[in-house]
Amino acid sequence: MSEVTLPNLYLVPTPIGNLQDITLRAIEVLKAADVILAEDTRTSGKLLKHLEISRPLQSYHIFNEHKTVEKLVQRMKDGEHFALISDAGTPAISDPGFLLVREVLAAGLDVQTLPGPTAFVPALVNSGLPNDRFIFEGFLPHKKGRKTRIDGLVDEVRTMVFYESTHRIMKTLEQLAEAFGADRQACVSRELTKIHEENARGTLAELIAYYQTHPVKGEIVLVVAGKNPKS
Ligand code: SAM
Repeated sequence: MSEVTLPNLYLVPTPIGNLQDITLRAIEVLKAADVILAEDTRTSGKLLKHLEISRPLQSYHIFNEHKTVEKLVQRMKDGEHFALISDAGTPAISDPGFLLVREVLAAGLDVQTLPGPTAFVPALVNSGLPNDRFIFEGFLPHKKGRKTRIDGLVDEVRTMVFYESTHRIMKTLEQLAEAFGADRQACVSRELTKIHEENARGTLAELIAYYQTHPVKGEIVLVVAGKNPKS
């Protein structure tokens, strides 16, 4: 039997709001890492302090990933074990991580991703919309390519999941209503796992009307039903 070796890189999900959502294994892996790579060392520093984890922290974010990835891979080859975390949720899901995973694998090294918090799964399940098949669209482009992306989803029959911000949600609901029809079912999940969690379900028209009178605050996942294949 081959010897068990620790992966060179662990991706470790962290809470998306409620600090209780860290897993026992995530704590164990973070405590064992030689270095923790963090999107924002100040944000992650607070979490690690709360968890009483004291390991060297190094910043790893979209502005330095291309520059640092090669050196990190070399350090892994030299025997260091890294854990990557992002500000919240699962690294590489609408967060930095993909590039590092790709390069670590290309170098013949090991990657392991721990299961754990991510915003789109509870939003999808909470929506009550079919989840046997779905597509994750992440953030829509803000300007260039936005309309093309939305138009490309008009005939999509699977449930669609989008990440959104408070200042763009109304525009997105309106544009999707125009493209898909205002009677399309959807769900806006706000502040998941936090004190003010809210899951607003209804047609796109109902959600637009609701948010005209209710302020939209916090972090948002928008889940939209796919096209009825019979229509
Ligand atoms: N890596 C994260 C994950 O695994 O979900 C996503 C990071 S992305 C930069 C941040 C976006 O995730 C937010 O703009 C929002 O769309 C979504 N999000 C994160 N936390 C959330 C929460 N507590 N409630 C609702 N949406 C959340």
